[in-house]
Amino acid sequence: MGLSLELFRSAPRYLAARAVGGKAPGLVAGPLAPLRLASPRDPEPRGDGWTRVKPVLSGICGSDLATLGGKSSFYFSPLVSLPFVPGHEVVGEVIDDVDGLSAGDRVVLASVLACATRGLEPCASCRAGLFNRCDSVATGDLKAGLQTGYCADTGGGWSRMMLAHRSQLHPIPAAMDERVAVLIEPFACAIHAAMRANVPDGGSVFVVGAGTVGILTLLAVKLLTRPDHVIVAAKHARQRAAARLAGADVVVVPDHAVKAVRRSEHAMKLTPERGMDFLLGGVDVAIESTGSKSALDLALRTTRAGGRVVLSGIPGPGADLTPVWFRELELAGAYTSGTERVGDADRNTFDMAIELASGLPMLADMVGATYPLDRWREAIDHALGAGRLGTFKVAFAPQET
Ligand SMILES: [Zn+2]
Repeated sequence: MGLSLELFRSAPRYLAARAVGGKAPGLVAGPLAPLRLASPRDPEPRGDGWTRVKPVLSGICGSDLATLGGKSSFYFSPLVSLPFVPGHEVVGEVIDDVDGLSAGDRVVLASVLACATRGLEPCASCRAGLFNRCDSVATGDLKAGLQTGYCADTGGGWSRMMLAHRSQLHPIPAAMDERVAVLIEPFACAIHAAMRANVPDGGSVFVVGAGTVGILTLLAVKLLTRPDHVIVAAKHARQRAAARLAGADVVVVPDHAVKAVRRSEHAMKLTPERGMDFLLGGVDVAIESTGSKSALDLALRTTRAGGRVVLSGIPGPGADLTPVWFRELELAGAYTSGTERVGDADRNTFDMAIELASGLPMLADMVGATYPLDRWREAIDHALGAGRLGTFKVAFAPQET
C-alpha cells in the first residue's frame, strides 16, 4: 500500500485571511487544511522515458506553504491539476532502469514538467534549454501542472512513490549527504536568481531575506559573481548568523536596512508622508527572496536608478511599483532553473548546483528537521514557523514511520 499527502481542493480563502505570515500556523495545518493523508495504490510505471522514484527526503517549500494557506495567486489555477501530491524538492531512488539510470541510483529532481515529459516536440524555450520557460506546461500527455508537485498524473515528493521523467532526473555523487541533496533544487533556483541578477563586477548587491532561499542565493552570488559587497536583511538572529557565515559583508534587521544601504552606498534617504523610507542612490542589484510585500517594497526602495530587482520569491500582492517607474528599475523574475550562460558556455543549472554543493557539505546543517508523512501537521507547523524557530529547511522523510 502506498502513502502520500494529497492536496484535494483549493485552500479556502478564509485561511488566507487569517493565516497571513504564518501567524496562525495551527490553522493551516488544522482540520480545515486542504491536505490529507491518503493510501493510494502505488503508481504503475508510465512507459518509455519514465521511472518510478522512491523519495528519500522531500523538502517543504515556501510555495507549498502558500498553496496550503490559500495565499497563492489564482493565476496558478489553470497551471495545476487536482488532486495532486505536493513536493518538488526531492532526493530519491530510481526504481525502474531508464536511459543510463539503474534501479537504486540516487537522483534529484528538476521539477518543471516541460515538453519532454509531455511527449511534445520542444517549444522554443525548451529548444534553448530554458525548460523553466516552457510554454507547454498545461498541454500534452500529462494533465496541467507547472511542476511535479502540482500535477495529478505524476505524484509528488510527499509520498512513498512517485513518477519522474528521465529528463527531470540528475544522479548525485555517492558521497553526497541526502540532506545536502534535498537542497539541490532550491540551490539551483538560487543559482538561477544569482545569474538573472546580472551583477556588475565590483557592484553592490542587496539580498532581502535570509531563509533557505536567501542564504542559498547569497552563496550563489558569492560563488558565481564578483560584487564588491553584499548586504543582507534578515528578520531572525539565526538567519543573520548564517548570512555572516555565508559571506555577507553587512547584515541588518529589515527595519534598519534602508539606513544601512544609505550608508554603504552613500545614498540620500527620503521619508514619504506614509510608508517606508526610500533612497536616491542605492545598490546596483536587489534580490527579493521571501515573497512578502514588505520585502519587495524594501528592495524597490533601496535600488539605485537604472538598477535591477530580481523576484526570487513568488511576489506577494500589493507592493508599490512607483520606484520601478521613477527610478527606471529593471524588474526580473527568477523562476526555478534551466540553463545558464557562464562565460562562453551554456550550463545546466542542476549540474552547477550539484557541483557547487559537493564542495559545501556544511549545507546539510540547513535541514533542521525531518518528519515521516503521518506527522504532516507537525511538519507544516514547523515549516510555517521555521524562521522564528531558527530552522531553515524542514523536509519529509517519506520512507520513515
Ligand atoms: Zn517546452
